[in-house]
Amino acid sequence: MLKSVETRLKDYFKKNKRYAINLVSKLIEIPTVNPPGKNYEEMVCFLEKECRKLRLSTKKYVTPKNVLNKFGVRYGSKRVSLVADLDTGAEKTFHINSHYDVVPATDKWKTDPFVAVIKGAKIYGRGSEDMKGNIASVLFAIRALKKCGIKPKINIQLSFTPDEEIGGRTGLGYLVGMGFVKADYAMSEGCSGNYVSMGNKGVLWAEVEILGKSAHGSMPHKGVNSFERMNMLVNEFGKLKKKISKRKTRHSMRDAVSKSATFVMGGFLEGGVKINVVPGAVKFSIDRRLIPEESIGAAKKEIEAVIKKFDAGYKDSKVNIRFISQEGPAISGKDDVFFKVVSDAVKITTGKYANFSVMPGATDMRYFMWKGIPTLGYSASGGGKWHSDDEFVCISSLVKTANVYALVMKDLT
Ligand SMILES: [Zn+2]
Repeated sequence: MLKSVETRLKDYFKKNKRYAINLVSKLIEIPTVNPPGKNYEEMVCFLEKECRKLRLSTKKYVTPKNVLNKFGVRYGSKRVSLVADLDTGAEKTFHINSHYDVVPATDKWKTDPFVAVIKGAKIYGRGSEDMKGNIASVLFAIRALKKCGIKPKINIQLSFTPDEEIGGRTGLGYLVGMGFVKADYAMSEGCSGNYVSMGNKGVLWAEVEILGKSAHGSMPHKGVNSFERMNMLVNEFGKLKKKISKRKTRHSMRDAVSKSATFVMGGFLEGGVKINVVPGAVKFSIDRRLIPEESIGAAKKEIEAVIKKFDAGYKDSKVNIRFISQEGPAISGKDDVFFKVVSDAVKITTGKYANFSVMPGATDMRYFMWKGIPTLGYSASGGGKWHSDDEFVCISSLVKTANVYALVMKDLT
């Protein structure tokens, strides 16, 4: 009996996992630590060779100085991205992005973080899970299609980008902004197993300053206690927080408690100089997380309205707010066919139904989502130890992720 294409692929992956293991090991051993961003050129050179072995055409893009300056990138390697194409002559293009930079490692690792150590079913090393393992899976998928003689019905484009760990604006954000990548559908970093991410929450960070009037502690009537004013203001924000936490996204989230928008005060707190001084100025932070249904503009207005009302009630103090960071939430463009293809690929590979959910944190996939492109987040995983000591990726996840990618590449049109 003739084997089905799905079975042939599965057999191929099972028999050839060495390819992915060797590849991820080599990637781990090029320490692309960020900050400051090291060995980027060496990494891109290596990846370019690997892509060419798979007969992909390649192109490099260097993020220019003015863009680096704009986003405060002043040290480290030249910011190089690699784009690799498998052109099938189709109209549409399926884009898969992976970032190749990794966060620094502490000295608490049990093994050398930049030497790949294989123990049982796991590969240890910085970046194994976040997200060099995925690079290996994606290339493994392309190789499997070639070896099994399967020609995709869509163009496939891969990108390997730097600087995701510092926000991605000088990596994938730059490529997407400049139109250097093609994507009718896109996949990038996200969940794993039978979980697929279809969006992420937004974030708004602010610093609130309350100015009163300092005075000697023995004569408080001569001052305005900014700490006490802050206390009152925090109470007012508490009411807003209550309102915000009742807002829940209609999209599913892996963890049901994450469905709400959130408002955290005092992560950063500063003020007061001496025990016998009425504090004249205090500062505290706000960390506001937005669900996909909210917008940064509206979130800012809500906060500012509380301050405006407060200031109107207390003429002898003044509240200033400074928004230090803002990233809108992101959600995939709608596309039933794409979701179905990915969902089927996950079901065939893992035996479980795909679960599409919104992630609490952001990845580079938001750059595609902000353009309205149907985008899903899926990547090889280990123990969920992103950024922590003794990070690892499971060999079974490398294989299964490659299987999912190969099926999506095969079936998308
Ligand atoms: Zn990552």
